[in-house]
Amino acid sequence: MSEMNALYYRDPYCREFDAEVVRCTPGKKGFEVVLTDTAFYPEGGGQPADHGTLNDVKVTDVRERNDEIVHFTEEALPEGSTVHGVICWQRRFDHMQNHSGEHIVSGLIHKHFGYENVGFHMGPEETLIDFDGMLDEEQIRMIEHEANELIWRNIATKVYFPGAEELAATDYRSKKELHGTIRLVEFPDADLCACCGTHVERTGEIGLIKITDSEKHKNGTRLHLLCGMRALRDYGKKNEETWNTAHLLSAKPYEISAHVEKLLDENGRKQKQISVLTGEILNFRASQLPEHQKLLLDFETGLDTVRLREFANTLVESRDAETAAVFCGQDQLWSYVIVSRSADLKAVSAELNRRLNGRGGGSRQMIQGTCTADRETITAAVTELLDC
Ligand SMILES: [Zn+2]
Repeated sequence: MSEMNALYYRDPYCREFDAEVVRCTPGKKGFEVVLTDTAFYPEGGGQPADHGTLNDVKVTDVRERNDEIVHFTEEALPEGSTVHGVICWQRRFDHMQNHSGEHIVSGLIHKHFGYENVGFHMGPEETLIDFDGMLDEEQIRMIEHEANELIWRNIATKVYFPGAEELAATDYRSKKELHGTIRLVEFPDADLCACCGTHVERTGEIGLIKITDSEKHKNGTRLHLLCGMRALRDYGKKNEETWNTAHLLSAKPYEISAHVEKLLDENGRKQKQISVLTGEILNFRASQLPEHQKLLLDFETGLDTVRLREFANTLVESRDAETAAVFCGQDQLWSYVIVSRSADLKAVSAELNRRLNGRGGGSRQMIQGTCTADRETITAAVTELLDC
């Protein structure tokens, strides 16, 4: 886009402007409006489009199309009329903080490690940047620190359109082979990059740069980046969450993980104790049941699938039952395991599930599943099918 009718280039801080409507046509998403000049930034270079109003009519999207900037509006605007445009500044400034922050981080990574930025996505919550090389935690913290130092130095941003000769002699970052007029954005000591976005005038306006997370992505690294207001908001949320957790643990905020580790250890020990005690209770329960039965039917509560299977096996082995059927649950909702030495359980499985409104299956010697039935129905069905 030339600077001629791109007010957002000539003055990236312009929030309100007047322009004439060149064209207004109905489109798929409301109306498509072209103006003689505009401060609305059209989506491009990884930066989302501006939102705002034209004569109080909502602008929901802005795109560059055939060298024109098209505003998508909810209502029609008369061709030839002068309209007053207002940019949603909070949204735009957030984009400027995050776009400039992304350049500084990408530039520093390029300067120190030679990696290229191979992906840039500015979402409503966070910015994702992909690099074609691996970065470890220490390197990421070093980049973050240097990026923030650049913010504190409050360096002036340089934006310019170099001539062909100057451009040929300039070493700048670029994601693709570029044609036509090239616009360079420079953050001295950090980055020089071809870019069509809007940027802050001085680095101090970015406020804060925080890399919140990183992960391996393809053969490189993906960084999660928050700049300016986003970083502050994130700090606020995490601070609140940290204090809430600290109070719950009666711990100091910086000692939370040590406390949680202790709790997890304790929990592990308790789980083991519970497991031993449950085993003892089940052995005792088994010892109370009659021996040498053709069918031993038992109802339990609170056993997981593994315990349920163990208990059914125990009944066959220690009580010498030919078939043991254990149902575990309450309110007519049951898990069941049936183990047998003599019956063909696979043969009765379908009929049993039909009568008990259940599902499940298994082998000749063992079936398991779930069902919905009352105790009387279960007793009748199991007895009829397995005690014959
Ligand atoms: Zn850019």
